[in-house]
Amino acid sequence: MFTATKKILQKAHQGNYAIAHFNINNLEIMQGVVQAAENLKAPIILATSEGAIKYAGINFLKDLAYTASELSKVPIALHLDHGQDIEIIRRSIRLGYSSVMIDASHEKFQRNTQLTKRVVSLAHRHNISVEAELGTIGGVEDLVSAKNIIYTDPDKAKEFVEKTGCDFLAVAIGTSHGAYKFHGEVKLRMDILKEIKRKVKLPLVLHGASGVPSAVVKQAEKYGAKLHGVQGVPDTQIKLAVKNGINKINTDTDLRLAFDAGIREIIETKPAVFDPRKMLGPARDAITKVAEQRIKLFGSKGKAGGSR
Ligand SMILES: [Zn+2]
Repeated sequence: MFTATKKILQKAHQGNYAIAHFNINNLEIMQGVVQAAENLKAPIILATSEGAIKYAGINFLKDLAYTASELSKVPIALHLDHGQDIEIIRRSIRLGYSSVMIDASHEKFQRNTQLTKRVVSLAHRHNISVEAELGTIGGVEDLVSAKNIIYTDPDKAKEFVEKTGCDFLAVAIGTSHGAYKFHGEVKLRMDILKEIKRKVKLPLVLHGASGVPSAVVKQAEKYGAKLHGVQGVPDTQIKLAVKNGINKINTDTDLRLAFDAGIREIIETKPAVFDPRKMLGPARDAITKVAEQRIKLFGSKGKAGGSR
């Protein structure tokens, strides 16, 4: 059922677990993640980036998400990921998204505060919640990129949240967007995370946290993918981050990798197949498998709970 993002995340904040945010940009990916949520009775957040909206069209994506939520018993929210264009933010609010992200993290503190505040007043008028970002998450994701990671300052975070009135905060504690995240050992700054959680007392969001599961990478490579040097955030680090206050974790890269592996396998092993359903069906199943792993890791399995 269609549910407010805020409601889902407040529960996660109180219960100390994290909700899976899955980026969608077509029917199969959406169905794949929703199937995972149903299998595990977990609430999920479907998210569309500006890149996804450019690719598929906002009306199509919104209708896909709405249809999924009508047919499903688990709480499903619809979120705009990395909103930077005020027109797209406005359209998302008008169309009935349950939350929007304003990403002005590349701006100076004052300007980020100003822009976020503007979006908060716009969204709250329609009972829609707002995710904002402070600090810089590294890497490249769709239309968003940053060279360096600038860790979120806990005192600044407190000031930012008080001034803007945002509902959830994306923090930079060492994660990075994309599949080519890191060189060497990955270590997230749990000390910073704990301090932020203590000071802001809001649901916190982790971006750039894909796991890049090696089984999926191996499968894709077996059938021809060139993915040299990919590396994700280890499950142990994700678990610690959830324990220390993360309540929403964005996953996009892992879904892309699963989809890629599924399609490559069919093309390689069944060259006579040319029915799109037979090519995309297994990729959809691969998405479900990866999404289930993420939901279990985040601790939101079985949290769909009754009618709430
Ligand atoms: Zn992100």
